[in-house]
Amino acid sequence: MTVRAGREFLAIPGPTNMPDEVLRAMHRPALDIYSDEMVELTDSLLCDLGELFATKGRCYIHIANGHGAWEGVLSNVLSRGDKVLVLESGRFAIGWGDTAAAMGAEVEVLKGDWRRAVRPAEVEARLRQDRNHEIKAILAVQVDTASGAFNDIEAIGKAIRAAGHPALFMVDAVASLGCMPFEMDAWGIDVAMSGSQKGLMTPPGLGFVAANDRAREVHKTADLRTPYWDWTEREGLEHYRKYAGTAPVHLLFALRQAIDMLFDEKLENAFLRHRLLAEAVRRAVAVWGEGQVLGFNITEPSERSNTVTAVVMNGGHDPGALHRYCKEKCGVVLGTGIGELQGQGFRIAHMGHINAPMILGTLGVIEVGLGALDIPHGGGGTRAAIDWLAETVSA
Ligand SMILES: *Cc1c(COP(=O)(O)O)cnc(C)c1O
Repeated sequence: MTVRAGREFLAIPGPTNMPDEVLRAMHRPALDIYSDEMVELTDSLLCDLGELFATKGRCYIHIANGHGAWEGVLSNVLSRGDKVLVLESGRFAIGWGDTAAAMGAEVEVLKGDWRRAVRPAEVEARLRQDRNHEIKAILAVQVDTASGAFNDIEAIGKAIRAAGHPALFMVDAVASLGCMPFEMDAWGIDVAMSGSQKGLMTPPGLGFVAANDRAREVHKTADLRTPYWDWTEREGLEHYRKYAGTAPVHLLFALRQAIDMLFDEKLENAFLRHRLLAEAVRRAVAVWGEGQVLGFNITEPSERSNTVTAVVMNGGHDPGALHRYCKEKCGVVLGTGIGELQGQGFRIAHMGHINAPMILGTLGVIEVGLGALDIPHGGGGTRAAIDWLAETVSA
């Protein structure tokens, strides 16, 4: 028997649940890509992306997922043999670094920990050793979607400046833009990138990049540039050059609607919504952990992301069984453990189009699964999430 029917709830960290308004925005004919309407749509989106990244720098929209945008960033500012420093806190900065290595960069990983965020003091110490400024770029993620780590990008930016190092600071905000504060200019970030399908509630397929003047200066002499990604090509006068070809019109309709919804809500309210719902998830996980089987992957509470929570499962219990139960019996799809957490736990995504019923429903279903599968856990996790919301969301 099952209690699933109707819409399946995605609690995976991308692609995420899309609002019906976003889905409906795509249900229309294509646009004449040579029309004023097209140009205005592009202009409005580039302007609003600048607001999301909080930058006066230039924004670019690629038809690509996050991996594409990674490659686009690297190709625009690196030259063959350039040294890149990757700040490890899980899997994603490492993945970006692997791309750089495959493209011909020399990659050094500042060793991190799957259970901790990047420590800014270690970044500063490494950069101080680099007296000849061989390191040309520093790659970091704001949120590591595999480990659930939240990196303090502002503090890392300060550490780079304290070391007096000129390397470009390049930040991946794929799992955080639109969900948690991001201040590209104020935090000293030179290049930022993100994607459409996580916090931005839009189908996969759009990659976003923002670059400041310092990065655009380095770009002039970078020798890994290729036509599709090239910023200079995209700054050409004809509108089609902004997309290096045909504009992805339906994805842009969806993005326009999603950003309108975010701005109607107001970014600060969206950040608060994420913080409150993330804490509801954490309250539940903390209670479940009393059974000595479940626990947070990220050990330090201040380093846990407001967009995804990685839960480890010990004692020989199979997270796959819980995943299957939640999906097949109850219609909630949890994120599986990836990287070092493969087979070791599960992830609860709480980013983008999320609200109290979705989060309480997800937590309730997990608790049903824990019970049905006899996985030891503290009782009343969902109750703790309810109490937290009742305490903080005032009448
Ligand atoms: C999902 C993700 C990516 C990769 O994005 P794709 O669209 O899957 O290529 C990169 N970085 C982070 C932090 C992510 O969460």
